[in-house]
Amino acid sequence: MNFRKALLAGCWVVVISSTAFAHPQHGLSGSSLGAGFSHPWFGLDHLLAMIAVGLLSVQIGGKAIWILPATFLGMMVVGGTIGMNGVQVQFVEYGIALSVVALGVALALGMAYPIVSAAIFLGVFGLMHGHAHGIEMPAMADAVWYASGVVGATALLHLVGIAVGLSVKNSRRWAPSLRLSGVAISLVGVCLLLGVL
Ligand SMILES: [Zn+2]
Repeated sequence: MNFRKALLAGCWVVVISSTAFAHPQHGLSGSSLGAGFSHPWFGLDHLLAMIAVGLLSVQIGGKAIWILPATFLGMMVVGGTIGMNGVQVQFVEYGIALSVVALGVALALGMAYPIVSAAIFLGVFGLMHGHAHGIEMPAMADAVWYASGVVGATALLHLVGIAVGLSVKNSRRWAPSLRLSGVAISLVGVCLLLGVL
């Protein structure tokens, strides 16, 4: 990555982070499909975690490319359902920020983790991301539409991560770009954890 590209990436992070809000409200307001769909794109915590899931699945390769995103999505729906039923889980916001840090570290280390342990790790994070939204949903008239929007956007963000990963995986840039994005993602995660972002 040359200096211009690094600068561009830095600007992108600043632009995205300035539009990101603390958890409960990001994206369009309301309970429609559009509000649900816009939510993950405007929450830096979700955006980075979901793209990182796609990158990590490419990093591990093989069946992981579909198993890991499917696990995250599935557990996000489970978490959302638990949240909708009003079961409070303590410190879920910290858990989400921590998921960003951990995913960044996992990418930066660049190892081929066993699929089962990666799936468990992502399943827990998916559960927390889902829970945070489920807890807000009972008050919404169109919870199913909203949830479908969040799930659709999440799947799309996983695909973005997978597409970016696959496009550079076989080049010499793969290892350094994976390391760099991992470090950047985990640093943003630390800022989220500290409440700076
Ligand atoms: Zn959110």
